[in-house]
Amino acid sequence: MRIDRVILRMVTAKLSTPFENRWQRFETWTKVVVQADSGSASGFGECTAMETPYYNYETIETAWHILERYLAPLALAGEDWAVVNGHEEAKGALECALADLRARVAGQPLCVRIGGALRPVRAAATVGIEHSAHALLGAVRTASAAGYGRVRIKIRPGWDIEPVRLVREAFPAVPLIADANAAYGAADLDHLSKLDDLGLLALEQPFGQFMIETSAALQARMTTAICLDESVKSAADTARALRARACRIVNIKVGRVGGLAEAVRIHDLCAEHGITNFVGAKYELGLGRWTNLALATLPNMTLPSDVGPSHRYYVDDGADPTLEFTRPGWVSPLPAPGIGAVLTSGVSTDREIAITR
Ligand code: MG
Repeated sequence: MRIDRVILRMVTAKLSTPFENRWQRFETWTKVVVQADSGSASGFGECTAMETPYYNYETIETAWHILERYLAPLALAGEDWAVVNGHEEAKGALECALADLRARVAGQPLCVRIGGALRPVRAAATVGIEHSAHALLGAVRTASAAGYGRVRIKIRPGWDIEPVRLVREAFPAVPLIADANAAYGAADLDHLSKLDDLGLLALEQPFGQFMIETSAALQARMTTAICLDESVKSAADTARALRARACRIVNIKVGRVGGLAEAVRIHDLCAEHGITNFVGAKYELGLGRWTNLALATLPNMTLPSDVGPSHRYYVDDGADPTLEFTRPGWVSPLPAPGIGAVLTSGVSTDREIAITR
């Protein structure tokens, strides 16, 4: 397919409530949104890079640079952008825009095109690091009452065993994941093993990106499944982690792995090895949520995915239509070509550039 034009937009959306993770507190979220045009058709992809280089090395500014200077010109010239090293989140944004565009031109829902189906998906919620046990329990209660099928709690040294224990005692039936975002080291195996009594669905990414052997050592001594996130940036990483028995669950984030094609390869590899998957999110705006939902309809995505409605996070997510529950805790892809949604003016555009051939 001939790509005529790529438009990059830097958009900012206001959060409905501030969010805090291991690194910082957010009140707004700025994203790069990619639009790819062919004739009169447009496809959309949202870049998952954050403003800061803490989750990984990419930022919205590096993604913009790589997209404007390298990826968009290569795509417009019909050339392979694999020549660009790394920068998976920048690549993922353009790849998602092109996948959406191709699905729209083919008149096919994106979920069907990538091997999924027009089927409902159970959504999961994430609760950030709260400032008190009271606030944490309140946030879990709200998520659980809304129908979410799993709650992920962010942990870090000093905020781990006790908060998770309190949540477990208050909500014995809620499936829980504790997500450490790589905050622990090889000296913490004994400490983290204490989580094993708390009936967690998973302990997510306890160690640094490259600490596969340490993760395998912890998995060998814990009944609780370890889920990998930051460690898995490709199908090759996945194969290494599976060989080492470093996890029993893989969280697949489309941006982290450079787009839908690699996400599907990781999914297929996990399915072959009996490793379960879910789709992870990074505070996507509306368009990114629709893309994630398409991926979450794949058959091995058997755990609830981070694909809940955006009103939990954003005042306006910039997508029309916006993703909503079809019944409490469940979301469904649109029976329309591509992701079925377009960018609206609900978010403020700070910068815009059109790149043509
Ligand atoms: Mg994670």
